[in-house]
Amino acid sequence: MAKTIIVSNRLPISLRHRNGRFEFKPSAGGLATGLGSIYKSGENIWIGWPGNTVDDPEQRAEIILELHDLKMAPVFLSKEDVEQFYEGFSNETLWPAFHYFTQYMTYNAEHWEAYVRVNQKFCEAILKKADPDDTIWVHDYQLLLLPQMLREVLPNATIAFFQHIPFPSYEIIRMIPWRKQLLEGVCGADLIGFHTYDDMRHFMSAVGRITGLSSESGYIQADNRIINVDSFPMGIDYDKFAKQAKSKKTQSIVREFTKQVADQKLIITIDRLDYSKGIPQRIHAFNQLLKEHKELRGKVSMIMIVVPSRDKVQSYKELKEEIDLLVGRINSEYSTLNWVPVHYFYRSFPFEELSAFYNMSDIALVTPLRDGMNLVCKEYVASRTDQTGVLILSEMAGASKELQDAVLVNPNDQQGVVDAIYNALTMKPAEQKARISSMQESLKKYDIFQWVKVFLDRIEHVKEKQAELTSKDVDTKVLNEIEKSFKAAKNPVLFLDYDGTLTGFVANPNDAKPDAELKAIIKGLSQIAQVVIISGRDKDTLGTWFKGQQIDMIAEHGVWVKRKENKGDWELYAEVDDSWKDDIRSVMEYYVLRTPGAFIEEKHHSLVWHYRKVESGLGDLRMRELFSHLKYMARGHNLQVLEGNMVLEIKRPDINKGRAATALMKGSDYDFILAVGDDWTDEDTFKVMPKNAYTIRVGYAYTQANYNIKSVRQVRNLLGKLID
Ligand code: UDP
Repeated sequence: MAKTIIVSNRLPISLRHRNGRFEFKPSAGGLATGLGSIYKSGENIWIGWPGNTVDDPEQRAEIILELHDLKMAPVFLSKEDVEQFYEGFSNETLWPAFHYFTQYMTYNAEHWEAYVRVNQKFCEAILKKADPDDTIWVHDYQLLLLPQMLREVLPNATIAFFQHIPFPSYEIIRMIPWRKQLLEGVCGADLIGFHTYDDMRHFMSAVGRITGLSSESGYIQADNRIINVDSFPMGIDYDKFAKQAKSKKTQSIVREFTKQVADQKLIITIDRLDYSKGIPQRIHAFNQLLKEHKELRGKVSMIMIVVPSRDKVQSYKELKEEIDLLVGRINSEYSTLNWVPVHYFYRSFPFEELSAFYNMSDIALVTPLRDGMNLVCKEYVASRTDQTGVLILSEMAGASKELQDAVLVNPNDQQGVVDAIYNALTMKPAEQKARISSMQESLKKYDIFQWVKVFLDRIEHVKEKQAELTSKDVDTKVLNEIEKSFKAAKNPVLFLDYDGTLTGFVANPNDAKPDAELKAIIKGLSQIAQVVIISGRDKDTLGTWFKGQQIDMIAEHGVWVKRKENKGDWELYAEVDDSWKDDIRSVMEYYVLRTPGAFIEEKHHSLVWHYRKVESGLGDLRMRELFSHLKYMARGHNLQVLEGNMVLEIKRPDINKGRAATALMKGSDYDFILAVGDDWTDEDTFKVMPKNAYTIRVGYAYTQANYNIKSVRQVRNLLGKLID
C-alpha cells in the first residue's frame, strides 16, 4: 500500500548530547501535533535532521534504530552542512529575502552549493524509504529544491510542498542569483501550499516571470502535468490551548503570578528572537505610550518573552543587544520600587506557564514586521476561555487575513500602535467578548487537524485532475491505433491548426514560417490524405506559406476557405459585416500607445491585439484592462472577445473554426478524421467532430478533445508516422 512520507528540515524531536550519550526530546509544536496522526500510522514515516551533529558511526546506527521505533528516519548533517546550508543559505539568504529584509541577505556561492548538496542528501534519504507511488509531503524553505530532485527519480510519486514562511513579491525573488533553480525545484511538486492568498499570488507571478511556465486559476501548466497552487492558512491545536487554560495547574500558576503584579493591566508579547518580529519597534511604541499617557505609569506593564534563536548569526546577535539596551533604558527611566514597565525574559517557558501568561494578560501585542502566519496570536485567542482580552495584531502577519476581529495595526506606524494599545486598555468587555468569540469560532473550526485534512484531501484532488488529463495522453498504444486506422482508411481527412500545433510560437508572428521539415510532412500527407490547415491566420499569409501544396486551407477562423481543386481562389465562407471595426480599433490603438511592444493585427472578420513582445507583467496588466474595456463595447455590437495565446481577439461570435470545418466536411464520407489544435479556437473544431474522429489538443489544458499531446515536436512525430 502506498504510504505517506513527511519531510522537514527538523524532525519533531531534538537530539541532545549529554555526558557522551544522546537523548531525544519530543517537540510539542503545533505542526508535530497536527501531523502526529499521519506519520505515526501504518508504514508512514517522518524524515528530517535530528537537530544535532553526530559523527560516530556507531552512535548513528543506534540513533537510526531508536528513531525507527518513533516512526522517524534521520538525515545526518555535518557541522559544515549546518553552517552553510542551515545558518548560511537558509537563514542568511532565503529567510531575510522571504521576509523582505533584503539588507540582511548574503549571496554566497559556497552556501548555495551546500544548499544543493543538503537537499540532495534529503533526497537520497527519502529514496531509501520511498516506493514509486508514495505521497511525499515536503515542508518549508530549507528544502525548495527537493520536490524536483524527487520527481526526477520518482516521476509518478505524489509530491506536495508547503511553505511556512511568506513568499515575497517577484521584485525580491529576482534578487537571488539562484532564483530559477529554486522555483524549478518547488515546481517538482503536484501541490504547492502557502499560508495566504498573497503568498500564493506572488509565487505564481514569480514562476511565470522567471521560469516561463504559464498558469491559470491556481494551476501551473508544467511540461507534462498541472501543478496546483493554493493557500491553506495553518491553524493551532485549539482544544489543547482551551483545555490547558482551564486546567488546575495553569490556574494555580495564574494565581501565583498575579499576586506579584497586583492589579496592573498586562500586555503579553511572545516571539522567537528575530528581526522579522518587530521587537524593538514594539518597545519604542510602549515607551511612547508611557510618555503620552502619564496616568498609565504604574498601572500597565508588558511581559516580554523572547525565545533564543539563531544566536550564532550576526544580525541576531546585534538584535539581542539592541533589545537588551532598549529594555534597560525604558525600565531605568520609569521603574518604581513596586512597578517595572517591561518584564523581560530571554528564555523559553513550559507549556503550562505559557498558558498562564496568555490567561492572565489583558492584551496580546503581536506586531511582527513580517510573519508567514504567527501562531502566538491564535494561541492567545484560544486561551481566553472567559472571552475577555484584546488581540492587537500586525497586518503583516499571515494570521491577520483570518483574524479580522483583532485590532489590526501597521507595525511601522508607531502612533497607530500606541493608539491601539490605549484603546485596547479602555475597550468595553462587551466589545472584547464580541471580537474574541468570533475569532474563537473560526480558530476552532480551522484547527491544525482540519488544516492537515484539507491539505491531504487537496493532494488527492490534484492527482485526480492530473489523471484525467494524462488518461487522454497520446501514448504508444493510441499512436499505433491512429496509425492503423489511418492506414486502413480509404478517404481520410486531417484538420491541422497551424500556430502552436504544427509550429512553435515566436516573438514575431511573421517569423513562424513553415520550415523544411514541416513542408515535407505536409507534402507527404497531402499525397495520401485530404489535409486541411485550419488557422486563425489571414488568408494571404497562409496562401504564401503553403503555395504549391495540394491542400485545403481555412483562414481567419473560418472566414475564408481555399479548396485544393479550386486553384488560387479564396472563397468567402461567411458574410462579414465589419462596420464595428472603427470603434474597436480606436480603443485598441489607445492600448497600443500605452504598451510598448503591443500591436494590432487586422483580419477580415476580427481585430487582434498582440502582446507577446510586451514585458510580461505589463502585458498581462494591459490585457486585463483592455479585456474589460472590449467586453463592455462588445455588447453594443454583438461581438465576442476571446483570450488566446498572448492575444486578445474580438470578432463576430457566429464565425468559428467549427462552423467552417462542418461546411467543409459536408457531402463527403470520411472514414478517418483527425483534428489537432492547441487553443480555444480549436475547441470549436473539436466540438463539431463526429464521434469516431481523433481529436487532439496540444498541451495539458482542459479540452473537449479526446486526447492531449505534449508538444509541437510530438505532433510532428505523429504526422511523420502516418507517412511512413
Ligand atoms: N513557544 C514555545 N515556548 C515559549 C514561547 C513560545 O513553545 O517559551 C511557541 C509558541 O507557543 C508558538 C511558537 O513558539 O507556538 C511560535 O510560533 P509563531 O508562529 O508565533 O512564530 P515562529 O517562531 O514560528 O516564527
